[in-house]
Amino acid sequence: MERIKLGIDLDGTLADTEAKLLRVLERRYGIKVTPEDIWGPESGRTFSGTAGIARHFNLTYEQVKDAFVEAWRDYRDIQLVDESIPRIMRKAQRDYEVCIVTASYGSRENIEAWLRLNEIPYDRFIQVKSPAEKMKAGMDVQVDDSGSVAKLFGDNNAACVLLSQRWNMADQPSLKEQPTVRIVNGWDEVSGMLESGSVKKLIRKGAHGSSVELLVRQ
Ligand SMILES: [Mg+2]
Repeated sequence: MERIKLGIDLDGTLADTEAKLLRVLERRYGIKVTPEDIWGPESGRTFSGTAGIARHFNLTYEQVKDAFVEAWRDYRDIQLVDESIPRIMRKAQRDYEVCIVTASYGSRENIEAWLRLNEIPYDRFIQVKSPAEKMKAGMDVQVDDSGSVAKLFGDNNAACVLLSQRWNMADQPSLKEQPTVRIVNGWDEVSGMLESGSVKKLIRKGAHGSSVELLVRQ
């Protein structure tokens, strides 16, 4: 039986790149801000992606992009979003073709070295140029931390599991209305979905059980 194509995002989903990015921004531009300052509920502000971070810090898009590149250049101190990810991914490979689908600015070489360092198994590595291109990767379901990626999948009737993070809180109320989007609070819930068959149900809700066909038509 063919395995389900499971797309997994990198930054903010597997890798806690944001924490590292803030350290790079501090070193480069003397900006001293904690994640809670920017993304905490008390800040009342939600920033998403490179453009949002640039606006908040009064930097150019290129400056933030460069900081992302630098964050991945020395990948060794980038932490896992959840310690149990390697175990969950190993288990998932039995039923799913596990594909890393990322629009990260990090180099493929460094990202794959980080995946090896953290013992994260995967079948394929797909690096796309923009988050929007994740739709074209041909996955049956995408696990992601980006509210705009989840919206894109939802609007196209394709299955997406959104990992709840500080920076996608503002997107969540409208995403809850999307039948093919499921919001989860952590990797234990992702794991539960993968094992219980609710991922398969989510896929069937979209594109009449044939999301791959729909993606190809895009
Ligand atoms: Mg991400």
